[in-house]
Amino acid sequence: MNVLTGTASRIDRAEIASIYHSPLLDLIGRANAVHRAHHDPTDVQVCVLLSIKTGGCPEDCAYCSQAARYNTNVDPQGLMKLEDVTAAAQKAKASGATRFCMGAAWREVRSGPQFDRVLEMIRTVNSEGLEVCCTLGMVTPEQAVAMKEAGLYAYNHNLDTSAAHYDQVIHTRTYEDRLKTLDAVRNAGISVCCGGILGLGETDEDRIDLLTTLANLPEPPESVPVNALVAVDGTPLEGSPKVSVWSMLRMIATARIIMPNAMVRLSAGRLEMPESEQALCFLAGANSIFAGDKLLTTPNPSVDRDSAMLATLGLTPRVSSVSSQATASSCSSPSNPAGASCCDGQGQAH
Ligand code: SF4
Repeated sequence: MNVLTGTASRIDRAEIASIYHSPLLDLIGRANAVHRAHHDPTDVQVCVLLSIKTGGCPEDCAYCSQAARYNTNVDPQGLMKLEDVTAAAQKAKASGATRFCMGAAWREVRSGPQFDRVLEMIRTVNSEGLEVCCTLGMVTPEQAVAMKEAGLYAYNHNLDTSAAHYDQVIHTRTYEDRLKTLDAVRNAGISVCCGGILGLGETDEDRIDLLTTLANLPEPPESVPVNALVAVDGTPLEGSPKVSVWSMLRMIATARIIMPNAMVRLSAGRLEMPESEQALCFLAGANSIFAGDKLLTTPNPSVDRDSAMLATLGLTPRVSSVSSQATASSCSSPSNPAGASCCDGQGQAH
């Protein structure tokens, strides 16, 4: 029994640990075979993540540049205007993105005028024919239904790390809170995007625990962002050592094998990774990136640099899986399950 979710485990932790600890090149080879069996290996989804409300967050996520309590360089900004978000979505679409994720540095969504504006944003981005994803913090079942009705395709809410390591990173909400939001989203028929961050001081065992929890949710997430910590000055994790590519590869490859249908998203931390390292991540089963100079508040490779990398590797940006105006009724079972990375505040995910 999975003690976190109360469901029968579909994938045993020992099995996941055995995969995770297998010789690295064997692991990558196996993950690549699984990837090819379940996805077009030349296909990479390009997503854009926009911070629609920046900074001033009351939470204390130790990695996050947007937590009000940390002295970072982030200038708090209120909720964006609808027309500015529309323009950003159109620009993202023109650049080849098929998924548009909107992140707000909130602890939780509060019903009222601001949430109503977010619902308008969802309708507008949906009408552009983009997969709309949001990451807004905790949501209630009623709010999840309202977002679904507005045309939301996916909701990102990361578990970040293992249940055991979680209280070393966040104290202002619990792991259980996060699982409840995931339940609300899933029950509303919204595609679930949920992953984690490497570099939070966790051990390999924590990473295996996180993977075990993800794979044994009532339904595995359609989208699994794998983030490398971008250590931001002024946060408790400033100065943390860079996450090694070998760790990223183990995480990505194991996620690919145990959640074969998921989109595995190479998310925050790419700016520090040479193209050769990113190529290994694609080989290990990653099939999505976030494009644009900024991932919420942290730097990210430019669109031009990414285009050149994809061309060099013979990878093709995915064509949109949703059609304009279509998602409100059709997104509960995405044709090619997807999700976004995201945005815990600093560009990793809520
Ligand atoms: S990760 Fe999200 S919830 Fe946590 S401090 Fe940052 S904005 Fe707030």
